Parts: sequence; C-alpha cells; structure tokens
Amino acid sequence: PKIRTVRTRFAPSPTGYLHLGGARTALYSWAFARHNKGQFILRVEDTDVERSTPEAVQAIMDGMAWLNLEYDEGPYFQMQRMDRYRAMIDKLLEKGEAYLCYCSQEEVNQMREKQRESGQRIRYDGTWRPEPGKVLPTPPAGVAPVVRFKNPSTGVVTWDDLVKGPISINNEEMDDLIIARQDGTPTYNFCVVVDDWEMEITHVIRGDDHINNTPRQINILKALGGEQPIYGHIPMILGPDGEKLSKRHGAVSVVQYHEEGFLPDAMINYLARLGWSHGDDELFSREQLIQWFDSTNLSKSAAQFDPEKLKWVNAHY
Ligand code: GLU
Repeated sequence: PKIRTVRTRFAPSPTGYLHLGGARTALYSWAFARHNKGQFILRVEDTDVERSTPEAVQAIMDGMAWLNLEYDEGPYFQMQRMDRYRAMIDKLLEKGEAYLCYCSQEEVNQMREKQRESGQRIRYDGTWRPEPGKVLPTPPAGVAPVVRFKNPSTGVVTWDDLVKGPISINNEEMDDLIIARQDGTPTYNFCVVVDDWEMEITHVIRGDDHINNTPRQINILKALGGEQPIYGHIPMILGPDGEKLSKRHGAVSVVQYHEEGFLPDAMINYLARLGWSHGDDELFSREQLIQWFDSTNLSKSAAQFDPEKLKWVNAHY
C-alpha cells in the first residue's frame, strides 16, 4: 500500500466542558501525529443541536490552547457539512447499499417487543430491505421514510486495533443502521464515516466507548468505497474508586486546573501517563513525549485517575 501522511483527529461533541478524558484523547491523537510527523485535525461534532452549545465549543478550544495542543486543520463543524452527508447518502441509495424504510417508530417498537418475548435478537426485521427476487411492500402514503444502511448479512469485519489488538465481529450481529432520519438529517455514525474518509484520517484514536460503532463504520466506509483507517480504542479513565471518572471524584474539567495555576506541560505529562508509559519515566518534556509516543506502549486496561499524583507531577515539573 502507498505510504500516506499520518492524519489524526480529535472529534469532540460540544455538549459540555473539556474533561480530562477528552483532553487525554486529544493529547494521544496529537502526540501520535507529531511523533509520526503527521497532521492533527480538530472536528467539532455538533449535530446534536439540542445539546451542543457555542460555550462548549469555546471551552474545548480554550482547553486545547492552554494545553498547547495545536491543530493543523480545523475546527471543522459537522453542521456546516450537511450537503456532503446528503450527497453520500444519495450515493449509497443509488448504489443499492442503502434503502428507504417506511416502518414507523411504533412498528419498530412492536417488532422489538415481539423479538424480546420470543427471545430473539433485537433487530430491524428487514421488511423494507431489498433482496434479489424479493417483492417489497408498497410505500404507505404520507409517511416520510428513514434511510437504512444495507449491512452485509454474512462475513466478518476485522481490524487490528492499535490498543486492543485484532478484533473481528460477525456481520450477522449487526443491524441495518439508520443513516438518515425522517427529516433527512444524517445520523452520528454516518457523519463520522464521511468525515474520517474525506478528511483523510489514517488513524482514528478514540475512547473505547466507541468500539461497538467501529464495525458499523467500517461497513459503511467500504460501501462508500473508502479505505479503512487504523483504529485505536483507548480504555476509559476511572476514578480512584474504580468507577467511571466523574465530577464526584473532584476536578475533572481542564479549565479548573487552568484556573488553579497548574502548568500545562505538567498536565500533559500526567495525562499522557494515564494509559501510556515509557519505561519507568515519570517526568518528561513535551519534546520527549513526541519522540517516544508510538502505539506500542498504550495500555489495554483502564487507567485510574489519582489527583495526588497529578499534584505531585505539577510540583516536580
Ligand atoms: N464525538 C464523539 C464523542 O465526543 C467522538 C467520535 C469519534 O471520536 O469518533 O464521543
């Protein structure tokens, strides 16, 4: 395969402050790009119009500026790219890789209820899915359809995860995902695929809460004719008690550390060590981080946030 310039991205949803987990995801994507003399892109995933706010966009950009995570491109905003998503949805419809589904939400709910009762897997039953030789029902009048992706019904999706190693998922386990809602707006997974492809992202580094989306995204990407990027799913950050990191563990937003006068490079140092290591090195400079940050030392297990350790790093930096 041809050698491509490494391109990574940080793709936050602007629904709140920049928290430690988000900052670490941004940091890993940034450091990986810098280590490989590549490019780092900021993409704001603002399609959830009810939860996205301009203040949150600003908080993300302020946090990144304070931490000195400079990006080479962006910020791109998904809301400004709707015509791209629409064009790609049309392309899939034309190719027969997607189809119109006229099932109402009520029908889908009933479908699920039946499947639940009979112990079947919960999934879209394929009423409107075109198959060779199949006669489709007549579209009901006055109902706006959703667009569903025609997920392959057989075979497996595989990728060699930078963090977790080889993963394979059976297509049978996957549903025909809705890619455009009744009002025509594209759904989250679809936008991500189009963006990662068009922005020529080579390495998708993100939290492992997205790992179930990955095989779906790979299938959509293949249908569009795109080349599969490399994925790396980082385990989440836990609180000192082993629970998912949240506000009750203390300051979890980057701005709080900024306001308390922490050194940005000490923050970087501490965040880098939450899920990555370089021998026994505890303290290192930004330059050393860039020099050392390859994917081989990423941890497979969840890291535990330790506010005392962060203070220690800050005091000794
Ligand atoms: N916007 C997603 C989030 O904030 C990230 C999506 C991705 O990295 O692919 O969780």
